[in-house]
Amino acid sequence: MFIFKQIKDLQNHLSNFDSIGFVPTMGALHEGHLSLINQSKKENTLSVCSIFVNPTQFNNSNDFDKYPITIESDIEFLESVNCDVLFLPSVNEMYPDGIIDIKQYQIGYLDTILDGKFRPNHFNGVCVIVHKLLQAVQPQKLYLGEKDFQQCAVIKQLVKSENIPVEIVTCPTLRMPNGLAMSSRNKRLSDFGLSMASLIYKCLNDIKNEQFDHSFEILQSKNIDILSAKNFKTEYLLLANADTLEILQDFDHSKNMVLLIASFFEEVRLIDNLRLN
Ligand code: AMP
Repeated sequence: MFIFKQIKDLQNHLSNFDSIGFVPTMGALHEGHLSLINQSKKENTLSVCSIFVNPTQFNNSNDFDKYPITIESDIEFLESVNCDVLFLPSVNEMYPDGIIDIKQYQIGYLDTILDGKFRPNHFNGVCVIVHKLLQAVQPQKLYLGEKDFQQCAVIKQLVKSENIPVEIVTCPTLRMPNGLAMSSRNKRLSDFGLSMASLIYKCLNDIKNEQFDHSFEILQSKNIDILSAKNFKTEYLLLANADTLEILQDFDHSKNMVLLIASFFEEVRLIDNLRLN
């Protein structure tokens, strides 16, 4: 595997290829990330993974400081799946002018709901770094995980509004055997936390299974209470149109629907989602 830290070296290497798949990550890699790389390897002649913990997308400095960094094992992990290229830039390489006066994107509605509402400036930071990375790598295909459902919507909108010539491939969420969505942040949970956190997925499934028997309002409040009784602090548990992310007050079976949740356990912010149809 080639490892590049500078954009010019990366671009020199990539200029020889015309079918490039790109998987941007923040490292602390797990099977979920690897599934994206494997998908890219199937569909492209060259696959590039980036690892960059992007400071401008953290609205909470504690979350940034505690973000797990495991570069050595990440490199081993990537080599084990024969990833072709790792792009591992410094903050200075991605933000040569500093991180204070960054570009502001017009994210609109998507920035007013869910993570956009609870994590001010988060999606602007995501747009800034994804745009910069896409300009650096210039891939034909970009691989994103549905685990970050709203992020997929924001990046699709970015690609459209900035006319970036890349195809977005969304990949399903990989889960632990107990149902917990794999996430780098899970590394901050205790063993007890890891087993408890599967309650999030169970609640989503219970709502899905009961959608024809009760209103969403009743199921929402019941499941927030179930989580709260086990010391989860739920930021949101909402139902949305899966195509537009319009928040729905109740089930509407004429629409594609998705449940989305953000809940804290052991002070770790966990997000998950489940499509209803
Ligand atoms: P991150 O390193 O958390 O920024 O994630 C990098 C990419 O991996 C994003 O497109 C995520 O949506 C995706 N990803 C993270 N967790 C999972 C998972 N459990 N299953 C599939 N994709 C994932």
